[in-house]
Amino acid sequence: MLWLDAGAGRTSVRIDGERIAAVGAGADLGAGARRLDCAGATIEPGAVNAHTHLYSGLAPLGMPAPDVAPQTFLQILERVWWRLDRAIDAAALRASARLYVAEALLAGTTSLCDHHESPAFIEGSLDVLADAADELGARMFVCYGATERNGGLDEARRGLAECGRFARDNRRSRVRAMVGLHASFTVSDATIREAGALARELGTVVHAHVAEAPEDVEDAKRRGHAGPIERLLALEGLPRGSVVAHGVHLDVAEVRRVDAAGLWLVQNPRSNEGNRVGYPASLHASAHVALGTDGWAADMAEEERALVRLATAAGDPEASTGGLARRLADGRRLVGERAGIALAPLAVGSTADVVALERGPSSRARHVVVDGELVVEGGRLVHGDLEAIRGEAREQAARLWARMRGI
Ligand SMILES: [Zn+2]
Repeated sequence: MLWLDAGAGRTSVRIDGERIAAVGAGADLGAGARRLDCAGATIEPGAVNAHTHLYSGLAPLGMPAPDVAPQTFLQILERVWWRLDRAIDAAALRASARLYVAEALLAGTTSLCDHHESPAFIEGSLDVLADAADELGARMFVCYGATERNGGLDEARRGLAECGRFARDNRRSRVRAMVGLHASFTVSDATIREAGALARELGTVVHAHVAEAPEDVEDAKRRGHAGPIERLLALEGLPRGSVVAHGVHLDVAEVRRVDAAGLWLVQNPRSNEGNRVGYPASLHASAHVALGTDGWAADMAEEERALVRLATAAGDPEASTGGLARRLADGRRLVGERAGIALAPLAVGSTADVVALERGPSSRARHVVVDGELVVEGGRLVHGDLEAIRGEAREQAARLWARMRGI
């Protein structure tokens, strides 16, 4: 039993097993429980990062800029991210994932929906990611993003097979599988159909990038579809509950179609700005839009600040209605729905993914509880040594940049 004690007259939380057992200001809340001092901190449900890439966790550690500066979205992918993912091996992935998960927890982010690609290390890659979450105590969904862009159909089948293998073998209670598709523009009809069928067979959903940039829309049109979302739906590649990242170039009618198909959209403000793909101006037409960082650090308060800034600049109607504040709540709904738990509200019976955040502009967690287990205490990881994790990350980053230069 844990008692997150905010002090006299303030809302405190008692956790019993994996659930919240009491919320209130009563002095009897802590009877028989281990007390965690939360005076001056804010107690709230853990944050969810609904779309990210742990494989880019080393990027802030000096990733070399491309020789020729990219001008278009495809050039950014080809000269930066697709070179990075091809250079990833097991050791680099482990270091990247551990650093990413550690920093996520320390920022109060308790759940991550990862979308993974490492073409030179496909089989077993999801275990490396899952082990990082399991070891440090985070909740995570993993998938391998099947693509044909390096090795054709064979590459896509290996990606889907990795999703299936992981889903069947996995015994970690906080890590679950989705089926990944990179994006409509890098896969054939057959791969989309196979992804949808595999997700249905496994009782899970598909996680894919959709309409991130005009190139994805133009490709779907060349293939005879109105757009990528119409193509993925027509080929039964997105079972209900699937996760669709970006949707920057969907119009209002398409976003309504996404919503009617029971899909989750995930907005990634900092990434969209960095990749200069535009602002997703139609997402207000869906009631299911979560927030992701697309590989940027999992500090959801910072991502939310970027969201408000960019939404205001773009004239998004939700910037004035308060609708943007729903994004983080929607992330909790998304993960709760998939995991069969309630991550919010902060109330009796909800699953105990609870954080005590230091007040102030930076997201620093004092204590973090996931599934009733204390995983950050007093601003330090309970199950890992941050300095050792950073040391391993620096060492692996240097190796990774050397390999990237040769690709
Ligand atoms: Zn992404």
